[in-house]
Amino acid sequence: MIKGIFPVEKFSPLETPFYYYDMDLLRETLDTIRKETENKPFHIHYAIKANHNPRILKEIASYGFGADCVSGNEILKALACGFSPETIAFAGVGKTDREMNIGLDHDIFCFNVESKPEVKILNGLAAAKGKTARVALRINPNVDAHTHHYITTGLNENKFGINQQDLPEILEIIAESANIKLIGIHFHIGSQITDLSAFEDLCVKAAELQEWFNEKGIRLPVINVGGGLGINYQHPNHCPIADFESYFRLFEKYLKLQEDQSLHFELGRSVVAPCGSLIARTVFVKEGLQKKFLIVDAGMTDLIRPALYQAFHHIENISSDGEYTPYDVVGPICESSDVFAKEMMLNRAERGDLIAIRSAGAYGEAMASQYNCRPLPASHFSDSL
Ligand SMILES: *Cc1c(COP(=O)(O)O)cnc(C)c1O
Repeated sequence: MIKGIFPVEKFSPLETPFYYYDMDLLRETLDTIRKETENKPFHIHYAIKANHNPRILKEIASYGFGADCVSGNEILKALACGFSPETIAFAGVGKTDREMNIGLDHDIFCFNVESKPEVKILNGLAAAKGKTARVALRINPNVDAHTHHYITTGLNENKFGINQQDLPEILEIIAESANIKLIGIHFHIGSQITDLSAFEDLCVKAAELQEWFNEKGIRLPVINVGGGLGINYQHPNHCPIADFESYFRLFEKYLKLQEDQSLHFELGRSVVAPCGSLIARTVFVKEGLQKKFLIVDAGMTDLIRPALYQAFHHIENISSDGEYTPYDVVGPICESSDVFAKEMMLNRAERGDLIAIRSAGAYGEAMASQYNCRPLPASHFSDSL
């Protein structure tokens, strides 16, 4: 067991639970992404919703990457943390007038529009400001991402995106909308995708759709393939960085870009998940009839992924090197789903031991709640402890 990656002595005086971010790993990840995309017409828009901690956002913005936002407040937060407005893509099925106006006021790069009424309303709001809104159509490519049904988004019967049958009508609406400029097409097929063949299917679909637009005399300078690259939750120590090399190479191979066309990616999880751990303290070790329960002071309010989508997180007891013992690791919240893991092999634990719930940097802190009047978890960073 690699205990060395956590500064356990520095953790001891800190109040738990808290998120701990390994900033070296974040930078190594960002370096890898930069290396795999520089000298190519590839653009990264980090999906803010995965983690909007300002320290994390500032680090990502410092690399010159763009932002993918799903609310008006995310746009404001991205701007406050150093992302440039001309790199901001704005997605979402239910953008309100206020949110669309925030995007218009800051002249963001692109609105990813998801329905006919959205085009009409956005056109009206842009006209009122004497501006032109650049839009990409979010199209459902009907590609199965083979991931959990709560996080698959690219199938036809889904609240997200525009179905292909509706494209001719939406093009008519755009043609009548003087303040809308169509610049591209956008897809997002799901999240935590580890079978990269789903992205191959997406490339084929994107090429077909682009051909359809070209036949109508429409050029698309922007192709946005969304996010979704998965990480290895089972082996955070052996595979701390997602397979960006294969991922970007796949798009280079299967999606031939036309001249002056750029390919856009909206990666969230793969950028920030591995660098974050939720650190909790053992409150009690409770012996059941057959099981041993490790009751910790973090709960589903701090990290909801296991309760919400049966997500797996590797867990370590970072205070002990005792014999490996199976524990059900559970939180204190009054919900039966407040379970982080069943039968997790941990070094023998006692009251007070610190445990690390790994790969929690994405959709962890960002989804925390105050259910049961709990405080929001704090955050600490490897370079400022
Ligand atoms: C959530 C989301 C992303 C990021 O997805 P990850 O799986 O975290 O990479 C990208 N684009 C859109 C439109 C999203 O909703």
